[in-house]
Amino acid sequence: MLIFKWDKSYETNIDSIDIQHKKLVDMINDLGESIQSNKTISQQHLDQIFNGITKYAEEHFEDEENEMEMANVDPRHIDTHKKAHKVFFKEATKLFEGIKENLISHEVLFHFLSSWLSIHILGTDKILVKQIKAIKEGQDPKKAYEMIRDDTESTIGPLLFAVNQLFNRTMNMNNRLIALNKSLEEQVKLRTKELEQSNNILKTMALTDTLTKLGNRRAAVAYLKSEWKKDANDGTTITCIMLDADKFKYINDTEGHEAGDKVLQIIANTIKNSIRNDDFVCRLGGDEFVILSNNTNLQYALKLAEHIRQQVEQIKLHFTKQYWHGSISLGVAARDQNMQNYIDLLKTADNGLYIAKRNGRNRVGCAQIDNN
Ligand code: GH3
Ligand code: MG
Repeated sequence: MLIFKWDKSYETNIDSIDIQHKKLVDMINDLGESIQSNKTISQQHLDQIFNGITKYAEEHFEDEENEMEMANVDPRHIDTHKKAHKVFFKEATKLFEGIKENLISHEVLFHFLSSWLSIHILGTDKILVKQIKAIKEGQDPKKAYEMIRDDTESTIGPLLFAVNQLFNRTMNMNNRLIALNKSLEEQVKLRTKELEQSNNILKTMALTDTLTKLGNRRAAVAYLKSEWKKDANDGTTITCIMLDADKFKYINDTEGHEAGDKVLQIIANTIKNSIRNDDFVCRLGGDEFVILSNNTNLQYALKLAEHIRQQVEQIKLHFTKQYWHGSISLGVAARDQNMQNYIDLLKTADNGLYIAKRNGRNRVGCAQIDNN
């Protein structure tokens, strides 16, 4: 049961102090009850309880400190007593922040508040009250301090010392627990971020052609699958340009594979510089590329294909033995009613490419219009 039981032993017999102590005990018990009755205590409710306790504790500590000053209590006691009050706020705030960040449980805060208060009332406050009483009875404050200190040391001194030691150890352990959980949480966050980054890199790698840095066949298929679902009703559609370098094998055979790679990279860059931001270009493999456009029509794709062809035609690359004169063939297709899925679109564009090759290369072909 999370309850801090008040009994006569806590009474100092100074009414103003006892009333405030009882009120603090009640407030701490409210927190205990909330924790017990409602496992998912809301942050707002907790904020309210905690602010209530600390605000009231602040007022009480201030009253108590004024009382010791007015009674002319020895400065050595005032100093230790004020320090104890400060520790209360510092530690309680740390624990409360720990709860907010999910680093410790509510119970840890409750145990701290109730234990601190009971040890403080039974120890420091009782010693203070004895001094005030002695001073009021005519004792010199310095003497009162020393007499009560000696008396305490010979009676409950060892017990108070042991309890304080235990309490300080608990406070240290709580702080270490908060620090440990925080560093664990940070490590988990860091590892999660690193994993996410690695996953993103892997995803990009899986969809990227290493030679040209364009999307690969997988990327083209993923794009087509997702775009195919969005069949627009505004007369626009998805188009596909299939593109293949002419007589490319010859470069590989005469100038080597590296020269062939260079040609593929130049073709890739030329396509990239010729299309809209919205168009998507991928290398399907070998010397074959595809340009996919959405929200457009066959006329646009035919124009774009011819534009790319002309751009590539202007390329002249000098190798050791000869020049490579840019030449590509392109097949164009737009989605139509007869197509069942994206594979039909690719096939129709491929048919257009076949027509272009058959008709002499370095041209655009389309199987959806009369090419002859
Ligand atoms: P066509 O006009 O009929 O297309 O003739 P082509 O010589 O271009 O024939 P094809 O398109 O069939 O040849 C593609 C060649 O591309 C075959 C293969 O050796 C070469 N190739 C495939 N992948 C790569 C690559 O990554 N780098 C290089 N350098 N060559 C490649
Ligand atoms: Mg080719």
